[in-house]
Amino acid sequence: MRVLYPGSFDPLTFGHLDLIKRGRRMFGEVVVAVLNNPEKTATFSLDTRLNQINEATKGIKDVHIISFEGLTVSCAAEMKCSIILRGLRALSDFEYELQIAHTNKTLGEQFETIFLATSAQHSFLSSSVVKEVAQFGGDVSHMVPSIVAKDLKHLYT
Ligand code: ADP
Repeated sequence: MRVLYPGSFDPLTFGHLDLIKRGRRMFGEVVVAVLNNPEKTATFSLDTRLNQINEATKGIKDVHIISFEGLTVSCAAEMKCSIILRGLRALSDFEYELQIAHTNKTLGEQFETIFLATSAQHSFLSSSVVKEVAQFGGDVSHMVPSIVAKDLKHLYT
């Protein structure tokens, strides 16, 4: 089975990577769909984000990386994924994630959203925390793959 894992990945963290690996183990194939939102300025360009995910998932079989604009359900339909994978960290993720899941269900009844609880060691990890730490010169090597750490260093020095 093939699942769609959509997100901004701005940038990719070990939390995202953990979800990609677990999703693949559970379902067989994971399509990582990077949202290109022209309304929102991302810290990293779409190309950089795609490159980071490509590099970080190099050794993992059956992971496909694409970009998309617009509705997640349209992307899922196009990629022939009937399951949408999302992660849940703390309770704070819950309300937002539930809202998206319900919206997607309204837009496409055939799509199911599956949530994976974050692994304990990644529960406080987010792209914004990573950027904040990197901005002030902190060590992010335990939070992000080395390609991302390199890009962050380049961005903030
Ligand atoms: P979005 O802007 O769509 O929320 P993100 O890149 O922030 O995109 O996150 C994509 C998905 O990955 C979300 O479902 C989010 O909850 C999940 N996620 C983010 N960080 C982690 C983490 N540390 N552990 C598990 N899931 C995570």
